[in-house]
Amino acid sequence: MLDFTELQNRYVFEGNLHLQGAMHIGSGRSDEEVDSVFACTSDNRPYIPGSSIRGALRSHTERILLSIRKPSCLLFSDSTFENPVMETKCLTAQKPDELAEIEQDELYENIMANPDLLCDTCKVYGSPHFASRVKIPDAIRAEQTPLNKRFNTGINRETGTVASGVLFSMNVVEKGNAFPFKLIAENMEPLTLGVLAIGLLEMMSGEFWIGAKAATGLGQCKLELSSVKYFGDDGVPLRQHILATTETEKFTVIPQNAIATKLRDWASAYINTTEEN
Ligand SMILES: [Zn+2]
Repeated sequence: MLDFTELQNRYVFEGNLHLQGAMHIGSGRSDEEVDSVFACTSDNRPYIPGSSIRGALRSHTERILLSIRKPSCLLFSDSTFENPVMETKCLTAQKPDELAEIEQDELYENIMANPDLLCDTCKVYGSPHFASRVKIPDAIRAEQTPLNKRFNTGINRETGTVASGVLFSMNVVEKGNAFPFKLIAENMEPLTLGVLAIGLLEMMSGEFWIGAKAATGLGQCKLELSSVKYFGDDGVPLRQHILATTETEKFTVIPQNAIATKLRDWASAYINTTEEN
């Protein structure tokens, strides 16, 4: 497994996240109008934190990997972790006291020597013991955007049913608006590209939700990728890419009409790989 000490390759994905319904991203603040104010920049442009997008990609990917019998944690599940696919638990899922005796440096070395100590999701999105290969900047709207007010009933986290007597107000950005999307992945290999592609394809299908209120139907969005480019996996020495003066010299670009096919190729190569490989 590639580690992080040297840059080997970089993939840059860009596009737009189109809202399929209203979205609420909490800022953790309330004001005189609403209980939960939408996250906004200091000049009042709404944004989705990159960490929220990454968390959503991660949790959608976990569910899919488990359903196709690939090793994955289920980090955001409340249920006790018992992964039927992996022989041993992913390090991420082990309790702190099970790992307490091992130093962080030693854990990292163990992972590099035996990558399968981590599940496939953690190989891409990281864990407390291993950095993420994927960076997603905050998705900030280019302009100020009208925010509407919504009331919502409280949802019981355990049962997913409506909790009685709780009415909660929040700002939403309405359906039809879009947020710019960017994702940078480094030191990717066929396995990690395949896992990433599975998440991105789900995001492109529109069956994808971001934000804590997804259980109430908020936050559905659909990714449209307009550009995918990479360097480092094209046989050209890295120093030539780093010193390149134009985008064309720097990156190999996947034509827009070939992006979905490319993602499916990466995903199917991963899905069809048996554990022996
Ligand atoms: Zn894991």
